[in-house]
Amino acid sequence: MKSELYFDNAATTRTAQEAADAMLDMLTNQYGNPSSLHYKGLEAQTRIDRARRQLASLLDCKPERLTFTSGATEANNLVLFGAAAARRRQGSRIVTTAYEHSSVEEACRQLEKEGFEVVRIAPDKAGQISASDVVGAVDEKTILVSCMMVNNELGTILPIEEIVHGVRRKKKDIFLHSDAVQALGKLPFRLSRLELDAVSVSAHKIHGPKGTGALYLREGTRILPRSFGGEQEKKFRPGTENAAGIVGFGAACQLMEKNGGEYLEQIRRCNLRLRELLSGREGFVIHSPEDALPTILNVSVPGVRSEVMLHFLEQYGICVSSGSACAKGAKSHVLSAMGLPAAEIDSALRISFSHENTVEQTEKLAEALEEGRVSLQSRLRKNKSTL
Ligand code: PMP
Repeated sequence: MKSELYFDNAATTRTAQEAADAMLDMLTNQYGNPSSLHYKGLEAQTRIDRARRQLASLLDCKPERLTFTSGATEANNLVLFGAAAARRRQGSRIVTTAYEHSSVEEACRQLEKEGFEVVRIAPDKAGQISASDVVGAVDEKTILVSCMMVNNELGTILPIEEIVHGVRRKKKDIFLHSDAVQALGKLPFRLSRLELDAVSVSAHKIHGPKGTGALYLREGTRILPRSFGGEQEKKFRPGTENAAGIVGFGAACQLMEKNGGEYLEQIRRCNLRLRELLSGREGFVIHSPEDALPTILNVSVPGVRSEVMLHFLEQYGICVSSGSACAKGAKSHVLSAMGLPAAEIDSALRISFSHENTVEQTEKLAEALEEGRVSLQSRLRKNKSTL
């Protein structure tokens, strides 16, 4: 049997046993509706409250500032449409980056259709966004700025603090949002110290369950709800709560808070080893900047299309990604925004680590990548010569 070598942790992570156990208990024992007034309802509500405190502790914010959602896609949509609708009379300009996750990018595209002007700041050749470019794009009409914390294809860490300070200095009452999905539990940040109005997070990137996320909203900020029909989550997210998912998220947050530093050290070891084995080697181009978060390494093998390499690696049980999982194989808008050559974009692989990866697994991955490069490139040359 081939062993499982999973290097697609930016797409999703394995649910931690502690999270799965907590969820099973919710599903089979604490199954009451959290809104019910009897003791089964109270039991479920108590556990949701605990999960909210666990996430709040990881984010360093007050638990009541958090709204649980079905994931970060919903959180991003809720905040962008909700903030734009609440500020419509104050202006119509939105500033974001050219390489946000599709749940921000496509929400912005929809807002454009509804009459908003969206300015997208492009990354430089190294994949970095300049804070002064973002601040420079803010004008009198700007109502909303949305910049991710860590890019999900490169691992690039955006200068959020600098952006927040610069934007606030220029226009105090702007609504500032950050998609922190790839940063949560991996990049230390404290919401009590960051003057952000809203932050989106997701459980399944930190060994929690899929289908659960949250939106943080700073005290005093206002957005309009997107759906109606219940009192849950202070009416921002009506509907019976995904109690098991929320409790699993809480358990994953607790694990991250306790072990996050140690997890990141293991991730760093694997990332450094892969960089060491691939950098300078003929036929490989690394796109993730040196100072990126070590969870992600984006690399191209020009001449070998991503999907072809992906399937070659599969024979060894290796899972990597050809870009963002949500793009389902479409050409990367992230690498396109960086202005990379087509051959590098078409052959890009996103390798993403968790603490469950080992250096030995990483060495196997490097070996398989080299074998794939040699055999797939020579197959390509032969095909060309027989044309
Ligand atoms: N934002 C970023 C940066 C992501 O990486 C993802 C997950 N691909 C999302 C948002 C969407 O999160 P979810 O899967 O919870 O909807």
